[in-house]
Amino acid sequence: MISAASVAVDWSPRDRVGTLVLVPPHPPTDEVAADRAVTPPAALRKLIAGNRRFLAGRTDGGRPGGRRTLPAPEPFALVVTCLDGGLAAESLFDAGYGDLCVVRSAGHVLDRGATASVELAVATLGVALVMVLGHEHCAAVRYAVDTDAPTGDLAYLVDEVRPAVAAADRAVDGGHHRHERGTDRYDRVMRHHVAGTVARVGALPAVREGLDAGTLWLVGARHDRTHGRVRLIA
Ligand SMILES: [Zn+2]
Repeated sequence: MISAASVAVDWSPRDRVGTLVLVPPHPPTDEVAADRAVTPPAALRKLIAGNRRFLAGRTDGGRPGGRRTLPAPEPFALVVTCLDGGLAAESLFDAGYGDLCVVRSAGHVLDRGATASVELAVATLGVALVMVLGHEHCAAVRYAVDTDAPTGDLAYLVDEVRPAVAAADRAVDGGHHRHERGTDRYDRVMRHHVAGTVARVGALPAVREGLDAGTLWLVGARHDRTHGRVRLIA
């Protein structure tokens, strides 16, 4: 289910560049909420608040500092993101030690190792939120758009991103801008690719189970590489 209205988070209108959020049909019950450290909407609020602290230069991620014994990780969110975003997710969201699980690959392409990682995080590590996080100036997107004859496993990468290229081109004047080489085209492809990755993540059995149970939200987002501002995207 895609519902923007049901996302009750503190997100200012200028941040809301469309919203792509998969939420369960019902909010978490008290019983479900009581059993978890962080509810899905609270997890999304924590990420947003952390990104705002990062943008403001006020970081208080609760890092363990000089402790000799690290606490047990208790991740509340899983971030599925790309390898060349320039910032670690923990920095971008001012997250503390053990707060996040991160799956990172070129163009957040999901091979079986990556999908197994997502399912493991959702099924056993207790994350309440999965965020697929793309970014502007993405090398994987640019490569998929610009490369006609990739070789080796780069062909796999291109095959995985290419549906987003086709979808982005179809969405613009029936494809008249197909040969455009500007940033806008790359950005459109990135947004479609994030949506495609959200759809794939949402189809994983453990994720579907979490969405149905009300213990998990799934969102798509992007961050700009200039400032690191994270926005939910459609
Ligand atoms: Zn990238």
